[in-house]
Amino acid sequence: MASRANHLVLLGCGLLCTAALLCTQMIGSCAAQGGASQPPASVAAVPGPKAVSNFPIVSDARLAGDARQTRFILDLDKPVQFRAFALADPYRVVVDFPQITFNLPAGIGAGGRGLVKAFRYGLVMPGGSRIVFDLTGPAKIAKSYILEAANGQPPRLVIEFEQMDRTAFVQSLPPESRPELRPAIAEANAAQPDSSIAQPPQAPDKRPVVVIDPGHGGVDNGTQAGGGDIMEKNLVLTFGLALRDRIEKSGKYRVVMTRTDDTFIPLADRVKVARNEAAALFVSIHADALPRGEGDAHGATIYTLSDKASDSEAERLADTENKSDAIGGVSLVDEPTEVADILIDLVQRETKTFSNRFARTLMSEMKNTVRMHKHPLKSAGFRVLKAPDVPSVLVELGYVSNKGDLELLVSENWRNKTVGAMAQAIDTFLAKRLATAGPAK
Ligand SMILES: [Zn+2]
Repeated sequence: MASRANHLVLLGCGLLCTAALLCTQMIGSCAAQGGASQPPASVAAVPGPKAVSNFPIVSDARLAGDARQTRFILDLDKPVQFRAFALADPYRVVVDFPQITFNLPAGIGAGGRGLVKAFRYGLVMPGGSRIVFDLTGPAKIAKSYILEAANGQPPRLVIEFEQMDRTAFVQSLPPESRPELRPAIAEANAAQPDSSIAQPPQAPDKRPVVVIDPGHGGVDNGTQAGGGDIMEKNLVLTFGLALRDRIEKSGKYRVVMTRTDDTFIPLADRVKVARNEAAALFVSIHADALPRGEGDAHGATIYTLSDKASDSEAERLADTENKSDAIGGVSLVDEPTEVADILIDLVQRETKTFSNRFARTLMSEMKNTVRMHKHPLKSAGFRVLKAPDVPSVLVELGYVSNKGDLELLVSENWRNKTVGAMAQAIDTFLAKRLATAGPAK
């Protein structure tokens, strides 16, 4: 009984946290502006009883530059992790930190300079702080980095904004924060007959959606080889884009990428793309590496989600892949999907069946053309596979730690063959599913 009650309390808290997260992610400024329990940003700077804690302290901030390039500098008492991203309509840049104490001069941020109209700051959730910049127009984060203390200067956070046009700005956003997704997808579908330009409103695209998720990105390089010259994030992006192009050629499916460039995307956001698109399939692409001295495995492996890892190697891999968020500086709340598990157990069970079915289809297609791991089907607790209603698999294309695999991973010939096998498996799986689902769908 007690555990049941705890469940409900947890659930309630989880939903609140989810609401808070969604709220801050979608509106950016709402936490700083409203909510009875949330002090306005400037009040959050007043040292309260919690200021005795050893959160990093921010003591000053300034802006420099002009309307083409603007630089923001924040003085810290120690280096912090952070995550900066842009949002549209209105144009903003958001920087997330672990909780920090803002000891900034009163009124700072009210006036801007160059591309920054103003900025606000404060706690967005226990353990998480945020600065939100209101921009005068579309601008990208050209650079963002931490400078270590040097020459009598404290550690500093530097964000460099650079002016860009709206189209480029919108395209630079991750899919789920794009104000209008359709144009980007229409563009990706250039092979399709396209009479849609400037014809509002478009007929809804009812083709099944395949989400391709190139792992890692941005600050998170993933595995590496060749002394850092070859990075997983680049290998899997190239592969993912090639797979997208191949699938789209048939015209039967709409493909949505979780990233199309070198951007960090939190794991939960990748799951969110799949769910928001009501995807028929989610395929995460990775390339593994064995730690030095742990043997020399090779070949491709296909992973599905399970509570209990199928073996110790699968468990190690899931742990590594799940660290992506920590590497990217994402804070700090439970994923909504984990809380929601209680409610959607049934849906999830069905999804699991389909995930496993797709994994087997994929393996039988790949094994003809692609070098596979000696145990090619495994399962573990990958956070990126946790969309409760979207069949999801994670493919490790091979091991960058293995010389033979590495040669294949960078070879165009191998990529073409592998992309072909995967596209074929996706088509086989979805054609069957659609046939079973019947014409009502
Ligand atoms: Zn990976």
